[in-house]
Amino acid sequence: MKVTDYFEQAKGQTLISFEVLPPLKGGSMKAIFDILDPLMEFKPPFIDVTYHREEYIYKRRDSGYYEKTSIRKRPGTVGICASIMHRYGVDAVPHLICGGFTKEDTENVLIDLNFLNINNVLALRGDAMKFEGKFIPTEGGHNYAIELVDQINHMNQGQYLDTNIENGEKTDFCIGIAGYPEKHFESPNLDLDLHYAKQKIEAGADYIVTQMFFDNQKYFDYVKSCRDAGISVPIVPGLKPITKKYQLSALPRIFHLDLPSDLALELGKAKNAEARRQVGIEWSIQQSKELKAAGVPCLHYYTMGDTETIKSIAEAVY
Ligand code: FAD
Repeated sequence: MKVTDYFEQAKGQTLISFEVLPPLKGGSMKAIFDILDPLMEFKPPFIDVTYHREEYIYKRRDSGYYEKTSIRKRPGTVGICASIMHRYGVDAVPHLICGGFTKEDTENVLIDLNFLNINNVLALRGDAMKFEGKFIPTEGGHNYAIELVDQINHMNQGQYLDTNIENGEKTDFCIGIAGYPEKHFESPNLDLDLHYAKQKIEAGADYIVTQMFFDNQKYFDYVKSCRDAGISVPIVPGLKPITKKYQLSALPRIFHLDLPSDLALELGKAKNAEARRQVGIEWSIQQSKELKAAGVPCLHYYTMGDTETIKSIAEAVY
């Protein structure tokens, strides 16, 4: 079933969903099941699986020269999605990115997904590779997420890259996109970011999932700005508890967001790791309760492998 159909069926009730990362190469599905098994009691209708493109590393050869090698540390998104659907009977939402994919590659993945009856995708551009200062599109691939949305939407109309294909199967993908309450870091301003978000909706995207935020007002303001800009699709808040000291500087640096002073001070005062975890859990519970009371369609938790913490939050909220 489509993610947006779940929202409609819920009739104003706030659903819950989770996001997992594929295990590092060499890992097993057990790692994913260990994260999800304890969370299934909260009955998430869908689970997202992130996508991680290749990275370049330099390997020293016997000659002393270094060789640049491409590796994918976390492969397996499509297989994990199929496995989640098989084990739990819930929908899985693979993230698809532009980086590292030609349009042909993307089409072939979409065909696989369609054959596997995976009818939801989150369409993203992806970030710049570590050693590159900015996102460089793959030759023959997409520059922006909107082009990916467009390609998926064309397949939904039975149009494939090969224009000789007549009466091609019409896929039926429900398309999610990313939203940034604190604006995407490359965007000159929020208005322009919303301008492009609106273009993605007009190209066929059905709903938005936000980047994490720690001050609900930022989400509420973002939703208002979206509505003012004519974006009417569901906007799902993405939530992540902050539980570790290093995250105080790492999260703003990596995700380009602000942390509220109260939260940062509380975490700073906490005596040990467990006390910090409790501060983060409590903050996330309050955030979640307020968002739920405001009638958001779904609370989407980034698990980052920390089942215990996410479970404590979900228990207090649902
Ligand atoms: P885009 O929509 O392409 O936007 C990128 C920038 O370009 C923005 O500043 C936007 O304003 C601007 N822009 C958009 N369209 C145009 C245009 N036509 N012309 C000029 N400027 C334009 N990354 C992964 O690698 N794997 C994941 O699984 C993953 N999951 C994510 C899940 C969520 C919920 C979120 C919020 C992010 C996720 N990301 C993931 C990160 C995402 O790939 C990055 O934030 C990336 O930098 C931008 O992706 P986007 O889809 O928002 O890009």
